[in-house]
Amino acid sequence: MTILRVALDVPLPRTFDYRVERATPADVGRRVVVPFGPRKLAGIVVEVCESSEVPPERLRAAHALLDDLAPLARDWLALARFTAEYYQRPLGEVIHAALPPRLRRPEPLRLGPTAYAITQAGRAAIATLPSRSLARRAALELAAAGTVPADSITAAVARDLLARGWMEPCPAPPRTPAFIAPHALTSAQAAAVEAIRAALGTYRACLLLGITGSGKTEVYLHVAAAALARGQQALVLVPEINLTPRLAEEFAARFPGARIVTLTSAVPDTERARAWLAVQRGEADIVLGTRLAVFAPLPAPGIVIVDEEHDASFKQQDGVRYSARDLAVFRAHAAGVPVVLGSATPSLETYQHALTGRYTLLELPRRAREGAALPAMRLVDLRTDPADDGVCASLAAAVRARLERGEQSLLFLNRRGYAPVLVCGACAWTAGCPRCSAHLVVHLGERALRCHHCGHAQPVPRACPTCGNVDLVPFGRGTQRLEASVAARFPDARVMRIDSDSTRNRGTWEAMAASIRAGEAQILIGTQILAKGHDFPNLTLVGVLNADAALVAPDYRAPERLFAQLMQVSGRAGRADAPGEVLIQTRYPEHPLYQALVRHDFRGFAQRLLEEREQAGFPPYVYEASLRAEARQMADAIAFLQRACAGAPPLDAAVTMFDPVPLTLARHNAWERAQVLLQAGSRRALQTFLREWSDMLYGAKPGAVRWHLDVDPLEF
Ligand code: ADP
Ligand code: ZN
Ligand code: ZN
Repeated sequence: MTILRVALDVPLPRTFDYRVERATPADVGRRVVVPFGPRKLAGIVVEVCESSEVPPERLRAAHALLDDLAPLARDWLALARFTAEYYQRPLGEVIHAALPPRLRRPEPLRLGPTAYAITQAGRAAIATLPSRSLARRAALELAAAGTVPADSITAAVARDLLARGWMEPCPAPPRTPAFIAPHALTSAQAAAVEAIRAALGTYRACLLLGITGSGKTEVYLHVAAAALARGQQALVLVPEINLTPRLAEEFAARFPGARIVTLTSAVPDTERARAWLAVQRGEADIVLGTRLAVFAPLPAPGIVIVDEEHDASFKQQDGVRYSARDLAVFRAHAAGVPVVLGSATPSLETYQHALTGRYTLLELPRRAREGAALPAMRLVDLRTDPADDGVCASLAAAVRARLERGEQSLLFLNRRGYAPVLVCGACAWTAGCPRCSAHLVVHLGERALRCHHCGHAQPVPRACPTCGNVDLVPFGRGTQRLEASVAARFPDARVMRIDSDSTRNRGTWEAMAASIRAGEAQILIGTQILAKGHDFPNLTLVGVLNADAALVAPDYRAPERLFAQLMQVSGRAGRADAPGEVLIQTRYPEHPLYQALVRHDFRGFAQRLLEEREQAGFPPYVYEASLRAEARQMADAIAFLQRACAGAPPLDAAVTMFDPVPLTLARHNAWERAQVLLQAGSRRALQTFLREWSDMLYGAKPGAVRWHLDVDPLEF
């Protein structure tokens, strides 16, 4: 009897054994449909063996080994296994999350062939076809001239011609990618490309530290071309789903003939499954995608690139809480290929590795285009130049000057909605979310109060629910309110607001970006959605409102994020030939963060932060993990954590365990949330402890408290 050891998507950190008539080690990595209790599940075979610890009478038979795709490769399974072990999640859950949705279902995937070729019989048939068979004749004539991609023939005609044996499925024809390099590289770009190119074929992690506009993309393109020239593939990860279409276009324009595949959650399921399979078959030269693309099954990756590597969106915030950036480095290491981490403001973790020499530091200190200067950054002191409806006099004057010159301005306010709080002027009642420990945000257009944490929405009340007063005041300022006051102040200007409310539908952002480029807006009002990556040549002024809020945030990562965000948004100013200007409104112009920012001095800023982190004992000088619990009552969540700590395996001296505390956002979606933070001077000691602890936690009876571990957490 042969036993299949199967990884299943169930919340238990183990595999499951099933009987099967016949299987060989070559079946490892195949999909299999198995019974699980009363259900049918799809799993992945991770081992084929001869015996099981399950007594034979209790061993169930697998329903079917599927062959709708080639077995998952060993290195892919090794990546999944590492992810499972490092992030303390069941292997089956990791594999499930890493596969495209269509491949998670317990049924064979039938996508049909990607291309067709004509048969001998088909050639013979062309001449004999009756003249009214127009569609069939056209398809055969097409096929007679060469391989036909499946999407150029209708499904009905294809079915008919296949049934008659006139056409047969065949693999997509290979193509020969070419590379177009329109610019001569700057010397810094050339040095970076050369260093990475020299490392092809071996593992090397490189930090590409380049200011905005320094031409990091050009470096990515050149090193991807070098990997392709070796017959390998390039994997490119980007943080923002909105940026992938433009990047894909850019790559397509530069690599004519290359097969470029995009993998993001916005790609419809069938298309995504098709793309994934094409990648697995080696039919993609370049894979572009968001964090989930780190699991793309490339057979021979030659280079891994992570753009904006500091971006928090590379960390998955639910389910398997992996960091795609860190897995990209693992993957490059396992494959023995270079990985390029690019950013103007790298994470302190990455920067620290570059300082110690673990990563190679490659710098692009100047803008790539001849004459494109960095924007001039100016701090405006709100104590002497107070804001009027959010905008101070010097910023208003700068906007007016842009209007007169026919240039565009951007006012950056990272808070959507009309006002963040609704307050009763009589009794100080504020509108809170019934499901979260958060204020409801006033959205005036739809006359609604919305929770930005759980999505709860309700109409704006007519009167205060506690005292009956009808004088309810929206307090503070969001983008909608700013839009209204700016429109009132500049009545002749065309004002456009860009935030996730105004770009909710797929494609809207692309359309808005196009109309901005066409000059249809003069003043842009936007959140961070505008800060990332888009290049508006006529935009010469960026005004930053209310950045100070992030200075007083309790999270120790807040300054790092604020600096990155302000660098990124100021990079929007003056990218073309018109010089840019950035005005930052603040009450603390002497703050070291702002001082470093106006000098464009990431390295000085990072040095200071690293010293602070070292003194305070924060990452990257320690490693962190947290155990979180969610319950209907806070007391239950805390009690769960207390029991988990009391019953924890003995602590290594290198590991510190803190007391259970509520999360910053203690209540979310009607769950009360608390956590225990762990810190350790050694990653290995922390991992050893977590492994034992998570075995215990998974082993306990499931109760009413939900829990999870977060390794290298970003949010508290
Ligand atoms: P980054 O990603 O570092 O912010 P980009 O890659 O977007 O910068 O490059 C900024 C601009 O400079 C782009 O318009 C790009 O086409 C241009 N550029 C890049 N490299 C060169 C070069 N070597 N010569 C001229 N222009 C360049
Ligand atoms: Zn009241
Ligand atoms: Zn809520």
